[in-house]
Amino acid sequence: MAELKFYNTLTRREEAFVPMDESHIRVYVCGPTVYDRAHIGNARSAVVYDVMARLLRHLYPHVTYVRNITDVDDKINKAAQERQIPISEVTTEVTEWYHDDMAALGNKRPDVEPRATEHINEMIAMIEALIAKNHAYAAEGHVLFAVESDANYGSLSHRTKENMIAGSRVEVAPYKRYAGDFVLWKPSKDDEPGWDSPWGYGRPGWHIECSAMSMKYLGKSFDIHGGGADLIFPHHENEIAQATCAHEDSEYAHYWVHNGFLTVNGEKMSKSLGNFITVRDLLDKGIKGEVIRYALLSTQYRKPLDWSDKLLDDAQKAMDGFYRRIDGAKCGEISAAFIEALCDDLNVPKATAMLHTANPADLLAMGKMLGLFEQDARAWFKGEQGDVDNADDWIDAKIAERIVAKKARDFAASDRIRDELKADGIVLEDRPDGTTDWRKT
Ligand code: AMP
Ligand code: ZN
Repeated sequence: MAELKFYNTLTRREEAFVPMDESHIRVYVCGPTVYDRAHIGNARSAVVYDVMARLLRHLYPHVTYVRNITDVDDKINKAAQERQIPISEVTTEVTEWYHDDMAALGNKRPDVEPRATEHINEMIAMIEALIAKNHAYAAEGHVLFAVESDANYGSLSHRTKENMIAGSRVEVAPYKRYAGDFVLWKPSKDDEPGWDSPWGYGRPGWHIECSAMSMKYLGKSFDIHGGGADLIFPHHENEIAQATCAHEDSEYAHYWVHNGFLTVNGEKMSKSLGNFITVRDLLDKGIKGEVIRYALLSTQYRKPLDWSDKLLDDAQKAMDGFYRRIDGAKCGEISAAFIEALCDDLNVPKATAMLHTANPADLLAMGKMLGLFEQDARAWFKGEQGDVDNADDWIDAKIAERIVAKKARDFAASDRIRDELKADGIVLEDRPDGTTDWRKT
């Protein structure tokens, strides 16, 4: 078996993957905050970890992949206010959008998708444990994590204390003992979402959500924790602090995997910069989900991926070429070299390079492993809305294939293609100069 390796942000090197329990691989990935459509940067993260889960399932008998849904957040409150609809309506609708868009990209649903609002009790219990162990303190309706109580704080992001404070999203409030202390619980106004707690009516901080939910479904220690590189600090640093201080025997996650940014002109794609394209924008333009997926997989996950129209065009051409070749093929074999490339810190570009030289049957098998080729070739070229241009492409491809067959004097194949087109209402007319015309019946 190929040796699986991941770059571990914690140790800052590539490491062999040694499972905690070979019979059960456990993975947690930070999911979306459901306040608006997912952009293609968010999609990159979802696609990367979907491929990781597929590879792990190929290698191990049992994998649990958990990805949360953050459905309590100030951005959600703001969206509800702007749209004059209840918060729950925003989170329900946006969660559905997320599921639809991610499915259109060929992503499988994680095994567990815990929603933050359904795990408030677990969060409160964890905060109580942190207070009991003097790792947290209540002040003015807030509960804060005492960063100075944790000797290991900073082990993931490798930051100095000064850098941590400067890089923190949290403003320095007067009730903090130390500027870097972060919120575990905060008070809610009457019209804000909230729950009763030992510290009054309020809501959890963002970081405690992930520690509480990952440990509930995966145990005190688990194999892999993933997310975008923007989450290393403070989010993941704080997750480690909460988990390991609440449970001294917890290692929390052994491998920390972070995907690089999807960029536009070298700048990170984000809602706040306004340089984003949503998955829905592209799908509505008629770009197929698998084309977007292929484009997102064109660069190894740790490297930045600069988005451009050319990237999409190239992906479209590559996918059209693949679909022409897999037409009629039976599923073949996944080569050892292909798995080896994926095992090399998910080197998808190295793996997809092999698709170009594989025979049609193996191409189909390997593409499927990456979440591609989920439709048949005819549907692909016809397009979901019966796209005439694409249908023409498909017919032209078939005619070209038939000419090759005739030249090779493979008349059985040539007749088969003619019959296949006829069944689809397309009649071929061979001309004396060797070219072929077609018309619809
Ligand atoms: P959010 O909904 O903003 O919390 O993000 C959901 C996931 O997408 C997180 O894992 C982020 O790290 C990731 N993400 C956000 N923006 C980008 C980007 N431009 N490129 C890659 N990943 C991103
Ligand atoms: Zn998280």
